[in-house]
Amino acid sequence: MASSNGPRIGFLGLGTMGAPMAAHIARAGFPLTVWNRTAAKVEPLLRVGAKSGKSPAHVAAEADVVITMVSQPTDVEAVVLGPDGVLDGIKSGAVLVDMSTVSPATSRKLAGAMTTKQAEFLDAPVVGSKGPATEGTLVILAGGLPSTLERCRPVLSTMGKTIILAGGVGMGSALKLATNLMLAHLAAGFAEGLLLVQRAGLDPKRYLEVLEASTFRSPWYQTKGAGMIKREFATHFALKHMHKDLRLMGELAGEVNAALPVTQAIEALFAQSEAAGRADLDYSAILAQLEQGT
Ligand code: NAP
Repeated sequence: MASSNGPRIGFLGLGTMGAPMAAHIARAGFPLTVWNRTAAKVEPLLRVGAKSGKSPAHVAAEADVVITMVSQPTDVEAVVLGPDGVLDGIKSGAVLVDMSTVSPATSRKLAGAMTTKQAEFLDAPVVGSKGPATEGTLVILAGGLPSTLERCRPVLSTMGKTIILAGGVGMGSALKLATNLMLAHLAAGFAEGLLLVQRAGLDPKRYLEVLEASTFRSPWYQTKGAGMIKREFATHFALKHMHKDLRLMGELAGEVNAALPVTQAIEALFAQSEAAGRADLDYSAILAQLEQGT
């Protein structure tokens, strides 16, 4: 357990992922101040010992390590660079750790802003959804200086058991996008296969059985795949966020001159699903889009 005079942590963004992640930091004994745009979400964190901050700037002014976990690039820029944002309050020598899934370009922009205050920056997006966030078993993909990661390791270790230094600033974000590319392909492939199985008159349980027996088996089939078969689309990872990640993969692909035609087709499927009103359902709800015929 961290002593009460250990590094002071600020945490901004208490959504599906941020709330359980911040709770781990508080339970580990780090002095923690939290802020969320919708103030009601702060309440459960106060019960595990966190303090409430008035604004991102106020939280940053009191912290040695400031963590952001919001939705997309424009949101993290609003919280960090906007009025009363982190940049206004952060102390010289402090670290901003952005754990949201954003583009490498956004990570580099945030890092540049931090240097104007002699503060450090780490991009540290996560692999794993609501379950691993609640269990503290996320995989954390870091981009930045090794020395910055070492300073942050004690607090990051409360949220994740595997921490991978991908490279310099932005590389954690790039590795995260490549990882979610695989997840989007898995979800789209499973959903199309399931549609085919059903329309061919097969029992979906046989489909799961054969995937489990295959060399490409994955625990994903038993959790998300079984949920798709039962049409359970309760949100662990919102469809709008996966769509955002697919857009960011396309942006990065353009920057580094990588052709991703299959990923582009999957992005179109997610765009249609979002336009059809499924933005806030789980990303597995793309099955419903395929069933209605895209
Ligand atoms: P979420 O449940 O939608 O929560 C988003 C959080 O960001 C909320 O606290 C929200 O505040 C805040 N926010 C959004 N826009 C904001 C703005 N302009 N200003 C201030 N606060 C803002 O999302 P999540 O599932 O926790 O995901 C957070 C990040 O982690 C995303 O980048 C996502 O892609 C990534 N991620 C998610 C998962 C997953 O399985 N869910 C897994 C890995 C990575 P309000 O409460 O006021 O709306």
